Amino acid sequence: MAKRDYYEILGLSKNASDAEIKKAYRQMALKYHPDKNPGNKDAEEHFKEAAEAYEVLSNAEKRSRYDQFGHDGMRNGGGQGFGGGMSMDDIFSQFGDIFGGAFGGGFGGFSGGGSRRRVNKGTNLRVKVKLTLEEIATGIEKKIKVNKLVSCSTCSGTGAAGGSAFSTCSHCRGTGQVTRVTSTFLGQMQTTSTCPYCNGEGQTITNKCNTCGGSGTTKGEEVLSLNIPAGVSEGIQLSVSGKGNAAPRGGVPGDLIVQIEEIQHPELIRDGSNILYEHFISFPEATLGTSIEVPTIEGKVRIKIEPGTQGGKVLRLKGKGIPSLNGYGRGDQLINISVWTPRNLNRQEQDILQKLMESENFKPHPGAKDRSFFDRMKEYFQ
Ligand SMILES: [Zn+2]
Ligand SMILES: [Zn+2]
Repeated sequence: MAKRDYYEILGLSKNASDAEIKKAYRQMALKYHPDKNPGNKDAEEHFKEAAEAYEVLSNAEKRSRYDQFGHDGMRNGGGQGFGGGMSMDDIFSQFGDIFGGAFGGGFGGFSGGGSRRRVNKGTNLRVKVKLTLEEIATGIEKKIKVNKLVSCSTCSGTGAAGGSAFSTCSHCRGTGQVTRVTSTFLGQMQTTSTCPYCNGEGQTITNKCNTCGGSGTTKGEEVLSLNIPAGVSEGIQLSVSGKGNAAPRGGVPGDLIVQIEEIQHPELIRDGSNILYEHFISFPEATLGTSIEVPTIEGKVRIKIEPGTQGGKVLRLKGKGIPSLNGYGRGDQLINISVWTPRNLNRQEQDILQKLMESENFKPHPGAKDRSFFDRMKEYFQ
């Protein structure tokens, strides 16, 4: 059977860069890996073919020889020729620099050796905490009760009924890993995986705790005190290390992930670190001036409305907003003054307004000379 062109095997052009060759081979190796295609002879053939193509094209000297003489150049050339192709061991030994240890799960096993006893980790726990705008403004300590896996009190989380109830796992001799060597059509294949008898822990319990059945954890609850800083907002997640579920048999507990939810204020709207509020005054109040009471996150505040106030004026209460989460600075409360236009008037009121409408003083005076709109907008967006 005639050998296929190495570039063709990897789907590359003759002037492919080293990086392109490496990338193409990585994709091929992943696609046709024997672990992914058990018993598939076709895939094994592709896998081997790609490895051989890579072996040549990734070496500058071999590549130039191949470019000049093709497959003949490889057969007759000095040095390490390619008589009968590569063995599986050769192929897997390439993987170190191709995959750079990035494949802990799928391919890590081929490197073999080494004790990698697993440390159990508890799962993370998620809770939602609803906060009012007032609580967000000041920061708050919240006590919450969470249902979670706690360390078994009978066995102190070990899962064993007594101190001497452990023995080293006989299947992995305490390493937590088992290595399996299988003979395949292409040679010997060595795979290392987590020991199924001890779940990678390296030891087994000979006498399990009656309370937790050997898991080391039981269902329980804990009252936690959360210090929530001022300035948090909807969707922010705070992580409390080690307050999640207890780990099986004395490992490291998971984390508690606290997700913040804002309870909408009945009157005030939050806009980042600012608070927005709209207040309506009557047309006579806007004309003659008045004093109004507005809600803030720190309680009611009385403010003065000047005579001749136009609708749309924005008043600013400095420092009455939300502190920034990083502790630096604090927003303002912005009050938009709107003038209420009455909808239902009796005859007498209509007559009065009719007369007022004819007065020169009641005619609007807008235009380029009136800068109040510009000033309002500038003030709002500054
Ligand atoms: Zn127990
Ligand atoms: Zn074991």
